[in-house]
Amino acid sequence: MAPSHISIPTKLPLLVVSNGVLFPGSTIRIPVTTVRNVNLVRSRLTSDSRLSSTVIGIVTKEPGKDGKGSTIHEIGTAGVVVQVTGTSWPRPVYTLLVTGLCRFRLVSIIQEHPYLMATIKQLEDLKNVDGEDDAQLAELVAEFKETAQKLIDMLDISVPGVAKLKTAVEQAPSQQLADAVAALIGGSLLERLQVLDALDVGARIRVTLPLLLRHIQKLKDIQEDKSEEKEKKNVQMIRLSRGGRNLSPMLDPPDDGDNDITDLAERIKSANMPEEAAKAANKELSRLKRMAPHMPEYSTTRNYLELLVDLPWSSSVKETCHITKARSDLDADHYGLEKVKRRVLEYLAVRQLRGDLKGPILCFVGPPGVGKTSIAKSIATTLGRPYHRMSLGGVSDQHDIRGHRRTYVGAMPGRVIQGLRSVKVKNPVMLLDEIDKLGSGIHGDPGAALLEVLDPEQNSTFTDTYLNLPFDLSQVLFVATANSLTTIPTPLLDRMEVINVPGYTQEEKVMIGHLHLLPKQLREHGLSNDILNMPKEVIATIIGEYTREAGVRTLERKIGALCRAVAVQVAESTSGKGETKTPQEVEVAEEQADLSGDANKVVVTAEGQAKEQALPKHQSTTQLREHLELPIVVDQKMIHNILGPPIFQSGLAGRVSVPGVAVGLAWTPVGGEVMVVEASRSPGDSGLTLTGQLGSVMQESAKIALSWVRQHAYLLQLEKDFMKDEEIHMHFPAGAISKDGPSAGVTILTVLVSLLSSRCVRPDVAMTGEITLNGVVLPVGGIKEKLLAAHRAGLTTVIIPAANKKDLTDIPNSILNEIEVVLVNTAGEVLTAAFEDGFPDIVPEDEAVMKTLRSKL
Ligand code: ADP
Repeated sequence: MAPSHISIPTKLPLLVVSNGVLFPGSTIRIPVTTVRNVNLVRSRLTSDSRLSSTVIGIVTKEPGKDGKGSTIHEIGTAGVVVQVTGTSWPRPVYTLLVTGLCRFRLVSIIQEHPYLMATIKQLEDLKNVDGEDDAQLAELVAEFKETAQKLIDMLDISVPGVAKLKTAVEQAPSQQLADAVAALIGGSLLERLQVLDALDVGARIRVTLPLLLRHIQKLKDIQEDKSEEKEKKNVQMIRLSRGGRNLSPMLDPPDDGDNDITDLAERIKSANMPEEAAKAANKELSRLKRMAPHMPEYSTTRNYLELLVDLPWSSSVKETCHITKARSDLDADHYGLEKVKRRVLEYLAVRQLRGDLKGPILCFVGPPGVGKTSIAKSIATTLGRPYHRMSLGGVSDQHDIRGHRRTYVGAMPGRVIQGLRSVKVKNPVMLLDEIDKLGSGIHGDPGAALLEVLDPEQNSTFTDTYLNLPFDLSQVLFVATANSLTTIPTPLLDRMEVINVPGYTQEEKVMIGHLHLLPKQLREHGLSNDILNMPKEVIATIIGEYTREAGVRTLERKIGALCRAVAVQVAESTSGKGETKTPQEVEVAEEQADLSGDANKVVVTAEGQAKEQALPKHQSTTQLREHLELPIVVDQKMIHNILGPPIFQSGLAGRVSVPGVAVGLAWTPVGGEVMVVEASRSPGDSGLTLTGQLGSVMQESAKIALSWVRQHAYLLQLEKDFMKDEEIHMHFPAGAISKDGPSAGVTILTVLVSLLSSRCVRPDVAMTGEITLNGVVLPVGGIKEKLLAAHRAGLTTVIIPAANKKDLTDIPNSILNEIEVVLVNTAGEVLTAAFEDGFPDIVPEDEAVMKTLRSKL
């Protein structure tokens, strides 16, 4: 609505429009194409940011009185430009969004180039010029409002233009009422100029009223006339002039929306939607028909319709599930993982027998790179269903899952609906990747939204906020992956059947590298076994010297780097050109991309690069043999040349050979880790200080261990008052990973005893276990991961709580053959195992503890 008191400059630049009128209080879009108008936009609007330069005069070009030439109508509207959009290439075309402020009369043109400038006189709205008294005017206004209300009742109030009309009728002061209505209904140019010319309020209403009545009549005609053809014609004729429509027809670009609309209508017909969706689609389509293509709403409505027609409402693929085939598919893609494969097969078998998907959702839990995603993909392949991965890492907005309300700028459907749109069938396998990384922020809880998606009772009518229609998700097979169970919201966890995918042993990794990763990388780099040979020992060296991981992701990348280097060598030797990158450069590029955290990009660039350099397909190995000695066998020297010096030195011996250091084993969501815990003592009185990102449970474990050591100082032959003038600092390195949990208890104890007794811990020993004040060792979690980590680090003895004995059944014999597992019940037993010669005096005390323990059991 136009503000009531505005003062506009007496000199205004003029934008001349053909065949259109801007009314005070309304907002329209004006395409700018003529030279002078473009000059105006460039010099006043795009290069000048002052507010005053956004006020311009909009005047209408009207045919000359004698039908020849044209003149500028002498009454125009000052307007404020609220938005400029457009392009200056290939030729300048802009669109202005202008809101009318007030009428003015042209006094004289004072400049013609580069754009028009004029002196003007601002015109006020007048009352009672025609001698009308207030009561008569009020009656006229009331009649006008009543008529306008009739029009509103006939229209769809959800259309913004109609809602705006309603507000104007209800709230606008009487002098603005006619302008508001005239801006929104059609009318010839002459009629609209008449409204503009009417300065007296009463006169303005009287001029507008017949236009309004005529508009209502035409609408009635359309509604009565069911003939689609006629309706289309009429609607086009008297389109509700929302937005730029009141500058039509000349200002509107040719109707490029018509093809769109016929096309969309066809697609709606063939989309095979359920009734409700088809109804909504047709309603949106008829709204679209009434819109001008350059209106912003046109594109949002069109995008919505595109989604409706793209969604797989009723298309699905036929499932092919034979358990024997599933078994061979899983085996073909994955080495080992017996337990996991068995669970997957059981799941598939049960599903097949039940004939529906209402069972729990499979959730693969384990460190990165152990094949969780890859198993999910195999499930899709074996079932013959398309596969879609939805990464949930970092999603903290429920709208990401459920979609944004369509009225928001840039609104989009949620990821589930987007996923279905891209797979084009309603029964894909949808992987919810990293479900444990769902966040919860200010925009609601995405976990709760996901629950709706996964709940078989609700998901047949899942309603995405953007789509605003129920979509049946009951045929989607959801599978999830997570690194850790601890951060998965309990209600979600309740819906899932957890399958643990632990890390691999060195041998398993070598086999995976040999049987799967190497062939895959060779293929991707256009190489073959005849050209590149990588013996298993070399794979083992790569694992030992360049990777520290529970899975095989880094291993795969390293093998990829070697393949690339060989591909470069082959390409160079055959083309004779030396412009390609050296293997080291390729590797460095990969590592850098990797550091930036964009793993996908690595693959793309690295592969892109490799493909360019890989040998041309038509060259046979025999031809290649002329240039190179084939196969190229990767050896130790080549690895170091290509991958650089080893990143990890095996063996912790050097670090553990001083008193006050011991190796603990920790469980992290990315697999087990060895943790070298160090302590030092110095003069001071601040007791025991711990550093290294620790949680409160760890702090407590340290206090418990210290109390136990104090209690047994005599038996351990320590000084009586060992902390009188001294303080102890204990540090847990690898600071970036925050650590908490009680399982470091025995390690802390060992470190303290080592420091205070000045004796070194055996360098080949690692340990884990919780400890109580009485020195009882309690069981802990993650034994398999911890043992694998110890094995990776080359440690040969691992101290674990006796109560964890049952977990050893999961450990492959190849590991148990190389690691001595010492099962302990008490602190004394820990020390006996951790130190050469142990602490004999503590043994009788230990036996007493054991006796009490047994009597309690
Ligand atoms: P995750 O999803 O657990 O992080 P991926 O499924 O992405 O791991 O696996 C990383 C890579 O390692 C993939 O190329 C995958 O094929 C391969 N891989 C992992 N485990 C195995 C296995 N047991 N056998 C064969 N390849 C494997």
